[in-house]
Amino acid sequence: MYVDKSIDEIRTSLDNQEVTGKQLFKEAIDKAKEMQPIYNSFVTILDEYQQTKGKTVLNEIPYALKDNFSTKNILTTGSSNILKNYVPVYDATAYRKLKEAGAVLVGKTVLDELAMGGTGTTAHTGIVRNPWDKTRLIGGSSAGSAAAVALGIVPFALGSDTGDSIRKPASFGGVVGFKPTYGRISRYGLFAFASSLDHVGTFTRNVKDTAYVVDVLKGQDEKDMTTLPDDSISYVDMLENEIKGKKLFYIKEACDIENYSDSSDEELLETLKNFHDKLDQLRKIGFEIEGVSIDKNLLNAIYPAYMTISCAEATSNNANLTGIQFGPRGEGKSINDIMFDARTKGFSELIKRRFILGSYILQKENQEKLFLNAGRIRRMIVDKINELFQTYDGMIMPTSGGIAPKFGDKTDQLSDRYLILENHMAIGNFGGFPSITIPSGFVNHMPIGINLTGRVKEDGEVLNMAYKMEEILGMKNIVAKGEKHV
Ligand code: GLN
Repeated sequence: MYVDKSIDEIRTSLDNQEVTGKQLFKEAIDKAKEMQPIYNSFVTILDEYQQTKGKTVLNEIPYALKDNFSTKNILTTGSSNILKNYVPVYDATAYRKLKEAGAVLVGKTVLDELAMGGTGTTAHTGIVRNPWDKTRLIGGSSAGSAAAVALGIVPFALGSDTGDSIRKPASFGGVVGFKPTYGRISRYGLFAFASSLDHVGTFTRNVKDTAYVVDVLKGQDEKDMTTLPDDSISYVDMLENEIKGKKLFYIKEACDIENYSDSSDEELLETLKNFHDKLDQLRKIGFEIEGVSIDKNLLNAIYPAYMTISCAEATSNNANLTGIQFGPRGEGKSINDIMFDARTKGFSELIKRRFILGSYILQKENQEKLFLNAGRIRRMIVDKINELFQTYDGMIMPTSGGIAPKFGDKTDQLSDRYLILENHMAIGNFGGFPSITIPSGFVNHMPIGINLTGRVKEDGEVLNMAYKMEEILGMKNIVAKGEKHV
């Protein structure tokens, strides 16, 4: 088996002619099919190998794409009934670049419908299970991409991240998830969810592989006006840079164990203990890490501000899903009836709830109080983080307050744990900051992760720090065994 190895190892085996691209493709699709009945990570598994001639390190390397990236002539559903038979007529730029680099697409992965949600349970093709424990979810929205990489079906996959949709499932799956600076990777051809927050990013099993993939994907794209000019840096070349003296902060309100002294949540306490133990180890290799205080009102406002902005933008972006241009046509006598029928049947409850919220937020009389105020909160949070980034090179946090939940577990959405620890990663989207999660240990036999967020445009620096951290955290290249379907 090669596809469960790192890109470096697979590259060497290809170059030494121990294995061919075609064999790798077959390995990946066979494993994908074997795992599919239990884990359900794919909407589509491809069956035809296309010979490639890319000149990059990714040539002949198999990978998976979240099913919200447009792929010409390949079904692209956004995991929604409203697009269940949609076949795009053009390629997303990220997909085109990977094709040109020689990487080989093996399948399109399941997401929470239209990338909204964090559970991996709302796709029109059913729930995605966690490779480390099938009674648990893997998180979302990029659930299938996270599971495919965690199971060792492919060495990398692409996802999209609007609030934490790469970084959260990556940590629940024990893999590396990276969302670069806003505009670093083109979003042309990615289904828009909330345009001011959407990012394209990667899943891999180690940080160097992330750098390989991002080096291929980054760069300006005339088809996406939000892309940044190319920084012409190789992130792979930066990985070995010295990190001694790099200063990091964590948010005391969310991470100090004393704040939870009356909590009986063992999982939360174990997760925080792991976090602080790991910080001590990172200090030994030269990181300077300290806790800082941030106004709790501001922290508690992250999630509501995120929901307000993202629901509003999503409602507007998805207004084209009427069943007229794309997807199954609705029934009815007038055009309004047809659209009404298509949207009623096409969207699940969660999506409808978000569109109702979004429409309400965007109503003229509510815009100032809701939409614009959420924008102001977003600005205050980003200003605060940028002020801290004048002193610190990055923010380090637990990716979550615990391990992947079991299906049906209830969360108290007003608790401190939920409001801050489960939602702080949206800060990375508010400010467009590069942000990565790397696995940091196990709690109750389930992986947990650490999240590192850096200054805008300093993607190379973030990957460099993460690369050095990964050595210490001791969870590089882990693969979940998974269960075969018998
Ligand atoms: N879980 C968040 C949400 O439900 C994030 C989704 C995302 O990043 N795409 O909106």
